Amino acid sequence: MAFELPPLPYAKDALAPHISEETLEYHYGKHHQTYVTNLNKMVEGTDFENSSLEEVIMGSEAAVFNNSAQVWNHTFYWSCMAPDGGGAPTGEVAEAINSAFGSYDTFVEKFKEAATTQFGSGWAWLVDAGSGLEIMKTANADLPMKHNAKALLTIDVWEHAYYIDFRNARPNYISTFVDSLINWDFVAANMAA
Ligand code: MN
Repeated sequence: MAFELPPLPYAKDALAPHISEETLEYHYGKHHQTYVTNLNKMVEGTDFENSSLEEVIMGSEAAVFNNSAQVWNHTFYWSCMAPDGGGAPTGEVAEAINSAFGSYDTFVEKFKEAATTQFGSGWAWLVDAGSGLEIMKTANADLPMKHNAKALLTIDVWEHAYYIDFRNARPNYISTFVDSLINWDFVAANMAA
């Protein structure tokens, strides 16, 4: 069965003015779609043809890994954002962040640092690595499940994620993500899963 592009969890203009409809038309409609299309071409007629996406990610390398991981990463990333998101979390997420980082402000500092300093293309993450929450950054398509960690939150720092709305100003995109977009309900659901 072919892999499919999952629907966005909101309308393409729902994250405006922070992330524009034009960005989602390209980032979701072109980039994410292309990873799905490429993956389907690559697995056709191979042992991966009837595998789950996670099985492909964990069992592959090179181009098949890159495309399968990017399908997963983007699906996860869309749910990490919500209209009227951002700001400090509450409840169990707040407790876990305070326990791991000391304060929300320190979490923000470390998350922003990881996202800003990921050289070139990649992702910054909040993960559960088994002994509490940690910040991780990965290059290109790499992702926490390859490192025995559970993803809770991610920001895409490939240029295609922010260039239309923020041009070269990656730090402004990261600040906007933190202040106005993070979907803490999704993080809480991932923590509980
Ligand atoms: Mn992307």
